[in-house]
Amino acid sequence: MKPIWRLRPRTAIPHLRNSAQSQFTALRYSPVPRTYTTTNVLENLYDVVIVGGGPAGLSLATSLRSSSVTSRLRVALIEGLDLDVGRKWKPSGESYSNRVSSLTPGSVGFLTDIGAWKHVQRNRVQAYHGMQVWDGVSGSRIEFNWDVKNSSTIAYMTENVNLVHGLLSRLEELGGAQLIDKTRVEGISFGEDHGTLDLRTWPVVQITGGRKLAARLLVGADGANSPVRTFAGIESRGWDYGRHGVVATVKTEDMPSVERTAYQRFLPTGPIALLPLPENFATLVWSTTPEIAAQLKKLSPTDFVAMVNSAFRLSHVDIAYMAKMDGGISQEYQWRQSVTPIDSAGVPSTVLEVQEKSIASFPLKMRHADSYISERMALVGDAAHTVHPLAGQGLNQGIGDVQSLIRTLETAVQTGKDIGSTLSLESYYSDQYFKNNLMIGVVDKLHKLYGTAFPPVVAVRSLGLRAVNAMEGLKSMIMKQAAGER
Ligand SMILES: Cc1cc2nc3c(=O)[nH]c(=O)nc-3n(C[C@H](O)[C@H](O)[C@H](O)COP(=O)(O)OP(=O)(O)OC[C@H]3O[C@@H](n4cnc5c(N)ncnc54)[C@H](O)[C@@H]3O)c2cc1C
Repeated sequence: MKPIWRLRPRTAIPHLRNSAQSQFTALRYSPVPRTYTTTNVLENLYDVVIVGGGPAGLSLATSLRSSSVTSRLRVALIEGLDLDVGRKWKPSGESYSNRVSSLTPGSVGFLTDIGAWKHVQRNRVQAYHGMQVWDGVSGSRIEFNWDVKNSSTIAYMTENVNLVHGLLSRLEELGGAQLIDKTRVEGISFGEDHGTLDLRTWPVVQITGGRKLAARLLVGADGANSPVRTFAGIESRGWDYGRHGVVATVKTEDMPSVERTAYQRFLPTGPIALLPLPENFATLVWSTTPEIAAQLKKLSPTDFVAMVNSAFRLSHVDIAYMAKMDGGISQEYQWRQSVTPIDSAGVPSTVLEVQEKSIASFPLKMRHADSYISERMALVGDAAHTVHPLAGQGLNQGIGDVQSLIRTLETAVQTGKDIGSTLSLESYYSDQYFKNNLMIGVVDKLHKLYGTAFPPVVAVRSLGLRAVNAMEGLKSMIMKQAAGER
């Protein structure tokens, strides 16, 4: 007769306290006689079940497999979409995805440590070393110029699909994690008491087809509408910005080959940013009203390009006027440009064309979960927080979460604690929550501060921007923060 193993808290197995073995492998050391047939229950027991195979969920699965401390844990990841899209990604050099993230050197350092960055196609990643940020009403500006001596990189522009491809390749190289894709989580409940196998405090995830997976630790990496967060009963608070982020891939006039700069201009309707990709490609993120976003998506490519060039060069009054035009924007721009003095030193290279089918938009919102943990559950990435994209921090925060959670789990395994207990998870929450809260707050205030053309506010913020621009020490501190140095 095959024995069945009683589940006990990890701390109840003192001789295994410093072992990095799977907590299930560990249980094999304490067999008890079988009293209940639960073979299929046992097959579906996991140390960690991750819901969500976006960049945050895949980073966590990769870290768990690549760490020598956690590599024996039994890990499953469930993703609703087809992971083959990222796995078999074969890009053409002639086009770039419109979903691109600026990854800080801190995030890239972590991705390198877990062995994923070497699988990212580096010829499609563009580092930038300078930033030009200015007020679209007063013209005051803050410049972060490339320091040839220190040559510090501010961020690496990386297509999200390239990162996902790199993470999936690394996971395949490591093996061992069960990736269940094209499968949705349809329900989550607590398990049952099977006599010798008491799963009443364990989350059990029901997926398409009826299979059920029980998790010692269930991680929600399932995006802004996280089903795991809902099941955990964790409130997520915040507001919608009433703004949409319009993204597109564009081609510009030739840019300097070595130094690359990111440009962001704050208009009263929201900031517009142009960030460099390899060669003379660039990615656009234009946060604006839903009405302007809808109009931008309807324009002909020539008029769209003219609108983007105007948004970096003309006055906010001109832009507001042109945003109401249904056509003829290109001619309007040429005329206005010929009669408007423009300082071309601080603006990006002229956009020449927009890549076909690359214009899309996303509603922007700020949300922050009240907690990132509850008994046997943790949240990472957008499931825990969503932030306005003006500082390019959303995914970087998600990678920061993973970095912190993996440290927490390593400590739990090394000290023989139950990885699902809130006691073990507490340090993840205390490490990340307040750091993220500060960033979300700063970004939110920046959005509000620049979302007006009211003269006294413009005067105060312009004074502040000029003062900061004059203080090299403070600027270097801001640069370090932006680069994810901790
Ligand atoms: C316009 C814009 C620009 C941005 N620019 C930047 C930037 O420059 N830098 C930066 O750091 N961040 C940026 N961000 C933010 C960044 O894109 C997100 O923070 C990041 O993609 C979130 O990753 P995630 O893995 O947490 O969530 P997601 O990518 O949303 O992944 C969640 C996954 O969970 C899956 N899922 C959900 N529910 C279920 C279910 N029931 N069953 C199975 N699977 C499920 C989904 O299919 C999805 O794949 C930007 C965002 C926007 C909108």
